[in-house]
Amino acid sequence: MAQNWTPTSWRNKPIQQVPDYPDADALKATELRLAKFPPLVFAGEARRLKSALGNVAEGRGFLLQGGDCAESFAEHEADNIRDFFRVFLQMAVVLTFGAQQPVVKIGRIAGQFAKPRSSNVERQGDVELPSYRGDIINGIEFNEKSRIPDPERQIMAYRQSAATLNLLRAFAQGGYANLDNVHQWMLGFVKDSPQAERYDKLANRISETMDFMKAIGITPENHPGLRETDFFTSHEALLLGYEEAMTRNDSTSGDFYATSGHMLWIGDRTRQPDHAHVEFCRGVKNPIGLKCGPSLQPDELIRLIDILNPANEAGRLTLIARFGHDKVADHLPKLIRAVEREGRKVVWSCDPMHGNTISLAGYKTRPFERILSEVDSFFQIHRAEGTHPGGIHIEMTGKNVTECTGGARALSGDDLSERYHTHCDPRLNADQALELAFLVAERMKG
Ligand code: PEP
Ligand code: MN
Repeated sequence: MAQNWTPTSWRNKPIQQVPDYPDADALKATELRLAKFPPLVFAGEARRLKSALGNVAEGRGFLLQGGDCAESFAEHEADNIRDFFRVFLQMAVVLTFGAQQPVVKIGRIAGQFAKPRSSNVERQGDVELPSYRGDIINGIEFNEKSRIPDPERQIMAYRQSAATLNLLRAFAQGGYANLDNVHQWMLGFVKDSPQAERYDKLANRISETMDFMKAIGITPENHPGLRETDFFTSHEALLLGYEEAMTRNDSTSGDFYATSGHMLWIGDRTRQPDHAHVEFCRGVKNPIGLKCGPSLQPDELIRLIDILNPANEAGRLTLIARFGHDKVADHLPKLIRAVEREGRKVVWSCDPMHGNTISLAGYKTRPFERILSEVDSFFQIHRAEGTHPGGIHIEMTGKNVTECTGGARALSGDDLSERYHTHCDPRLNADQALELAFLVAERMKG
């Protein structure tokens, strides 16, 4: 076990982004209740994910991680989960073909509720209220009552995560994720896209490969690998009281695992090496992600790697680069060189969302071309450094929202008000997300 670590040792460290719960006793009582609830995921699953990510770290795989910026109680509908999963699997197929490598699939889902905020307060006109911190903490409605942190929300988030995960497990294992289905959906997308011609080539090659496999008798009926898929969950480990309550000692290994999701990540605002979030994450054995933004210096990154992955275990740590299309070239090479110099095994993933947020027509949005440009630079930089561009991390939905501009349907600032539904940051819609997968796959094929 990590030295001097317990599931509560984070409580003795400085901490950022803590909600101000008005009733400490009620909070404690909730945490005690949660601690008795069944785990959402199992240690063995987290180990399996770690081993899949270990292959990615060693250049033999690609990570696709994505989902909502913030899940919400209001949008807990089967259709949303199904539509997300459907697009996500199509992206995975396209990327598998592009990379000619296994794609590790991790959703930002079934637990992605708590949000770090750049300000503690939000202002509308003359009224100033505490910021919304995600449905697991307070309500998005702009009134005083809804903004008071309520521990009962943690129970609701736990139950929603359990129900979401239950449906995802059924989809992943119950035949819905059958490769034939996914391929047919993907063809439907290509046919309807304004960029159909461009995507046709790759889509046709996938079709030919499928026909060939069928001809030699490899079908979903006789190959479980074609009718089932491995799908994992992840979220930001931000609300540490909740995470502590969901942390369990695994009887097989004697190690502690966070059982709120398979993978947890540390956000760019809470990655101080001597603070609470890093302290909590160093002691659980799950795969861990670390967001790397423009203020992260190479020596601090190495210090964080020392703390989070002292055994240099491949698959334990995923570095999620989120610099912005115009900053990635200034920052990423230094970090890659430090990691290489020190011989650290990590997965490098690219989050092209969080450094590319702008304001337009009164909305927070992200231009598709900047997102693509950051991914492009990420690939080019890794090629130049001789390292493996291991994955992408995106905010997306399976719905036809209008939150990010651009893409094949060229959404403009004027379109944003049509279906701007996100509870936090702007997400790629279904078409934009799948388009991104095609464009990334094209680049992987060289
Ligand atoms: C997020 O992933 O939603 C997020 C807040 O990211 P970051 O910590 O990179 O800003
Ligand atoms: Mn976000």
